[in-house]
Amino acid sequence: MFPSLFQRIDGKCDALVQLTQELVRIPTINPPGDYYRPCAEVIGRRLQARGFDVIYDRAHDTPGDSDRYPRENVVARWEGRRPGPCLHFNGHIDVVDVGPGWTTDPFGGEVKDGKVYGRGTCDMKGGIAAAIIAVEALLEEVPDLPGAIEISGTADEESGGYGGVAHLARKGFFSKPRVDHVVIPEPLNVDRVCLGHRGVWWAEIETKGRPAHGSMPFLGDCAVRHMTAFLSRVEAELFPALAGRQSAMPVVPPGARQSTLNFNALHGGLPEDFEGLPAPIVPDSCRVTIDRRFLLEERIEDVKGEVQAILDDLRKTRAGFDYEMRDIMEVLPLMTDKSAPVVRSVAGAIQEVLGRQPDFVVSPGTYDQKHIARIGHLHDCIAYGPGILDLAHQRDEYVGIDDMVQSAKVMGLAAHQLLTGQVS
Ligand SMILES: [Zn+2]
Repeated sequence: MFPSLFQRIDGKCDALVQLTQELVRIPTINPPGDYYRPCAEVIGRRLQARGFDVIYDRAHDTPGDSDRYPRENVVARWEGRRPGPCLHFNGHIDVVDVGPGWTTDPFGGEVKDGKVYGRGTCDMKGGIAAAIIAVEALLEEVPDLPGAIEISGTADEESGGYGGVAHLARKGFFSKPRVDHVVIPEPLNVDRVCLGHRGVWWAEIETKGRPAHGSMPFLGDCAVRHMTAFLSRVEAELFPALAGRQSAMPVVPPGARQSTLNFNALHGGLPEDFEGLPAPIVPDSCRVTIDRRFLLEERIEDVKGEVQAILDDLRKTRAGFDYEMRDIMEVLPLMTDKSAPVVRSVAGAIQEVLGRQPDFVVSPGTYDQKHIARIGHLHDCIAYGPGILDLAHQRDEYVGIDDMVQSAKVMGLAAHQLLTGQVS
């Protein structure tokens, strides 16, 4: 227990709300990736005034980067006078587009019934603000803390993180010896530790045909019919097989505790923006984009192989069937070990602050932890932060003020334990 730290964080409640509002009022919508620099500067200026070294780093030539929409990141580092490990808090500063149906101003940061409303309050500017307040309170409480603390605000998580965490990881910002432990305050609920995520494979499959006049389809070969044959096989064979593959990963919601497949898009024949009546042409191409989410228990070669096996079988058995398959993206599943220091310290802090056992969960979709593991080779990393996961990307998104305060206490206490070697 650390009652004086908790009191100090309670006393900063208004500052926490104000900082969240300040961040939310900058509409860092991605795509296109707007206002990254001003948002990064809110974080950078604040921490610089508290003795942090601040670096701004633009991810030149990453997807979406341009002079109009520069991919700006900020990394702030506080270094104690005594040596010790480094704990890094990383949050993405981008938010998804607003969408219709809001009853509050999405960039107003309105406070109502103990909640702050706005796009990005939950995912995840409230989490960034909670981490900053936690660290400020801890450093006021223990000015001679050993080790180092870093706080970063990064771009583009919502579009893959290539201009954000991936870029910084490539430059060594997420590797030892610079950093030892990482907490990503994504909205996973205040009593849950998120250990990792399922894997992803996106691919485009194109079936081929031969054009002819639509009144005489027998003179051509219809790519849409070939695609239908493929989709029917997936429906009959693959979906039941995937539903039967249960994971030992504690994925939430539990429906995602199995392998899943989605068809993200399907298109064949005339372009969708044709004008007038549709031309009677037998389609010579049909494309489907598949979104396959897989488990630690599966190998990516098998995940791809079972789709390819259906396609190859069709090529052998169905007259005229031909296809091409193109990989779009792949991310391997990952799960931090429960015995890792950052897991034990945050789990212990949840128990102390909230008085209940934490849940250990895995995310159905990926987030920036993938780059920290694959590029930075750092595996002592979790997501932990305030906010209700289901509210992310929704209209009237909000974060509970009490949640932010509680999670700040958890982060402050865990940071103290990690840096003073009470967890190693
Ligand atoms: Zn997020």
